[in-house]
Amino acid sequence: MEKKGKIGVTTDNIFPIIKKFLYSDHEIFLRELVSNAVDATQKLKTYSSLGEFKGELGNLAVSVSVDKDKGTLTISDRGIGMTSEEIDKYINQIAFSSANEFLDKYKTDANSIIGHFGLGFYSSFMVSKKVEIVTKSFKEDSQAVKWSCDGSPEFTIEPVEKAERGTDIILYIDDENKNFLEKAEIDKLLKKYCRFLPVPIVFGKKTEWIDGKSEETDEDNVINDTNPLWTRKPADLKDEDYKKFYQELYPFSDEPMFWIHLNVDYPFKLTGILYFPQVKSNIDLNRNKIQLYSNQVFVTDSVEGIVPEFLTLMHGVLDSPDIPLNVSRSYLQSDHNVKKISNHITKKVADRLEEIFKNDRTQFEEKWDSLKLFVEYGMLTDEKFYERAQKFCLLKNTDGKVFTFEEYKTLISSDQTDKDGNLIYLYASNKEEQYSYISTATNKGYDVILFDGQLDVHMAGLLEQKFEKSRFVRVDSDTIDNLILKEDSKEVKLTDKQKEELSEVFTSQLPKIDKTEFTIDYKALDKKSQPVQITQNEFMRRMKEMSAMQSGMGIYGEMPNNYNLVLNIEHPFIKQLMTDVEGKDKDAIDVYAGENTKVRQLIDLALLSNGMLKGEALNNFVKRNIDSI
Ligand code: ADP
Repeated sequence: MEKKGKIGVTTDNIFPIIKKFLYSDHEIFLRELVSNAVDATQKLKTYSSLGEFKGELGNLAVSVSVDKDKGTLTISDRGIGMTSEEIDKYINQIAFSSANEFLDKYKTDANSIIGHFGLGFYSSFMVSKKVEIVTKSFKEDSQAVKWSCDGSPEFTIEPVEKAERGTDIILYIDDENKNFLEKAEIDKLLKKYCRFLPVPIVFGKKTEWIDGKSEETDEDNVINDTNPLWTRKPADLKDEDYKKFYQELYPFSDEPMFWIHLNVDYPFKLTGILYFPQVKSNIDLNRNKIQLYSNQVFVTDSVEGIVPEFLTLMHGVLDSPDIPLNVSRSYLQSDHNVKKISNHITKKVADRLEEIFKNDRTQFEEKWDSLKLFVEYGMLTDEKFYERAQKFCLLKNTDGKVFTFEEYKTLISSDQTDKDGNLIYLYASNKEEQYSYISTATNKGYDVILFDGQLDVHMAGLLEQKFEKSRFVRVDSDTIDNLILKEDSKEVKLTDKQKEELSEVFTSQLPKIDKTEFTIDYKALDKKSQPVQITQNEFMRRMKEMSAMQSGMGIYGEMPNNYNLVLNIEHPFIKQLMTDVEGKDKDAIDVYAGENTKVRQLIDLALLSNGMLKGEALNNFVKRNIDSI
């Protein structure tokens, strides 16, 4: 006997809403329907293990099939099925209060609408002109029924013959969504959403290459791994298993360095495996993303907001039934559970790094170059992570030796404390370009940190805030004696006139370098120190570097590079120059400086040791020197 009815929604008609608002994520209907089939199957297994179901379980695979001629896509399971009353209760009555208000807010987010109303099943109407449910409950002597609805609130329900327990959901795909009748499309979606579902999902038969063409075999084509690595006990797994799984997730990737197998039961459930990738370039970082699952159903691979930003550099999977399948991103970010999960992961990651550091420092040091970006990113953006990571974050010096913060402080504190009690951390950002400055510093017994990573400028700033009475200065930002002032520097006793004359000698001979400006600086250094040096102010340079990293370039980015040309007025050569030009006018000084080849030579040498002598200027320098031989 056929029965007719009206789907119980308070708003006039749910279908236009489904079609209108849910267009963006059409494909998730398949995830919803297959998940329902899996749930029904898992429920039956539970009933069976509790003794409430005594029949044969038989083959429990869920099958998905396409019939292009009929224009249908069918999802079949052998789970608990539904009685006519259950259909009425679970399918016909949709809690749909305050719908308009909600829809207004979440217009563009199909996930949140589906999740909010428990509309998983109804998402099938996004792609169908008609949907049928043919189902038979596992309960003894159940009558199979067929429910049918063509997208209006009217449905029909009638008794039918069905041999087997379980449910078939038959979608009559509408004209705009014909792509869901393509095998390749369904195959792609099943692999995306259903790859690790706990019940076998069968999609057609396996194919084989026979005589140069692909032929179907008798074997079911199971598209998923029902027992993925993260659901298994860490104690049963070997390193090889983790590496193999990584390749499964991200084919053709380099081997990961370390991994963490997460397994939390309380206060929320969370499993997963996070891998530390080898970092070779920025591109690597963005290619492989963490995948988020809820009970083995794929939810998303954009986990921003769910895990702290720096952890998005990691790869792997997270699975938590506490992360709802169907909620919007904005909801997730404010969700209490999600916050707790995020904090927990941060803690676990820090614990694991500390453990490796403690148990196998050699390995940790070897991999530091790849780990560094990740650890620094974490320390810069997450206070809690900083607290933990300061124990294992390393500083590498220009000799390639590594130290913890504590160790490094001990190393330098006797030699690199200035007259005011500040500890001065010297660093270089490029070993080659700053070679002469580095060797001047190391010859004096100082140690120089190599800060050549992308985040190192920011790190220097952060560590200055964190460490007490400490400063970070680049080796070329001042003359060696001024980098770490041990006593008050000697007063420069020059008259303005003398300064002017001396300045003219050098500015007249300085080559023009694009976007580069020089300021003449006078210092009373040791008479054995270099007569002419080039330095760059630490503060200005850092500002420029920081703004270069942010897009759009701030005002500091627009400014030319400003260098100091430092003249050592205690040096005999400079003293001689001052006597020579005393009382001369500008033109006369220019002529004098032009004829004094040593002036040009000293300038070029200073430029050269700073990596600034290039192109024509470099060529002239070489020629001049060859000529003088
Ligand atoms: P949700 O899954 O979020 O509860 P759905 O709209 O997807 O919402 O499904 C509503 C209900 O219909 C389910 O809770 C379940 O009781 C029932 N149902 C859906 N699909 C099946 C199925 N394949 N087998 C048995 N029951 C099902």
